[in-house]
Amino acid sequence: TGGSSEIKNTSPKLQTGAVSSTASHPRKVAAQKSSAHIPPLRSQGNNAPTMERPAQGSAGGYDAKLVEMINSAIVDHSPSVKWEDIAGLELAKQTLMEMVILPTKRRDLFTGLRKPAKGLLLFGPPGTGKTLLAKAVASESNATFFNVSASSLTSKWVGEGEKLVRTLFQVAISRQPSVIFIDEIDSIMSTRTESENEASRRLKSEFLVQFDGVASNSGDLVTVIGATNKPQELDDAVLRRLVKRIYIPLPDANARRVLLKHKLKGHAFSLPDRDLVRLVAETDGYSGSDLQALCEEAAMMPIRELGANILTVQANQVRGLRYGDFQKAMSVIRPSLQRSKWSELEMWNREFGSS
Ligand code: ADP
Repeated sequence: TGGSSEIKNTSPKLQTGAVSSTASHPRKVAAQKSSAHIPPLRSQGNNAPTMERPAQGSAGGYDAKLVEMINSAIVDHSPSVKWEDIAGLELAKQTLMEMVILPTKRRDLFTGLRKPAKGLLLFGPPGTGKTLLAKAVASESNATFFNVSASSLTSKWVGEGEKLVRTLFQVAISRQPSVIFIDEIDSIMSTRTESENEASRRLKSEFLVQFDGVASNSGDLVTVIGATNKPQELDDAVLRRLVKRIYIPLPDANARRVLLKHKLKGHAFSLPDRDLVRLVAETDGYSGSDLQALCEEAAMMPIRELGANILTVQANQVRGLRYGDFQKAMSVIRPSLQRSKWSELEMWNREFGSS
């Protein structure tokens, strides 16, 4: 693509990977350094973004080690999640389609009043598909997916978080369209407290500066998606920038049925319709990942019955799963979200959510 050839043509001096504070185009540097580890820039479709604007706030140069770390540990090379893989969440899918996917496909239509928002928040109980959705957005829009876990950001990069955030945005700009997904965003972007340390205060400010940089440049196709199950703890300044806030609730009965069927695919089971209906009703309050755990636990029941025969039994002689297995599994695998937390999230959605 045009993007990759530009990367190859950049000055060889910059390819050494040394920390350079004199780099005139950090976005090129980041992209070119990354070319050794990541696929070349994809075709941008019409109105390809300009690759010449230096990233905001990059006066301090870039750190090749950080660029490398971002390319190896943060760029997710295979977010091949499809819309169909995600059960339910129709409203969230529709909003994301409008906000992120269509604008990358038809940039000419999404200008002025229709210019896409650069920041959005997915909030809801853990294990409900927020990460899956962000991955699906990235793969459907052919975007580079930056998967940032906020807690690892603070634990692994103590004192360097600020620099990492700056470099992250530089790499994201150079590899756009990009989706920066920040899981557990509340843990780094929470309301300021007295005891907040200097490093986390600086990290937060750097995030805001970088975010405003991409938001003010309509040529940049970088979308920041934050995910949290504690939206009430988010800093106001951050919340203001994540203009669309999409509630990702626990799966409803229909979504639970789809999820259960999906998880059981490829396994022998005998669950007549009435048992499935019972199971769906009894798993009210279970998240997608709770259902996954429930199916895994149920799948172990026929194996446990084998006792010592487990070493000799033929795989096709293991009996299929039945309702009783799930019933037993339900006494071990309980919904992980307390009801009180659930209603807190619903209240927050009514006050601040977009849907
Ligand atoms: P979150 O980011 O909301 O904590 P994830 O997206 O990481 O949750 O989901 C965790 C796991 O739970 C997924 O890998 C998937 O197996 C399952 N899951 C949760 N919600 C859904 C859903 N709506 N459709 C399909 N699978 C789901």
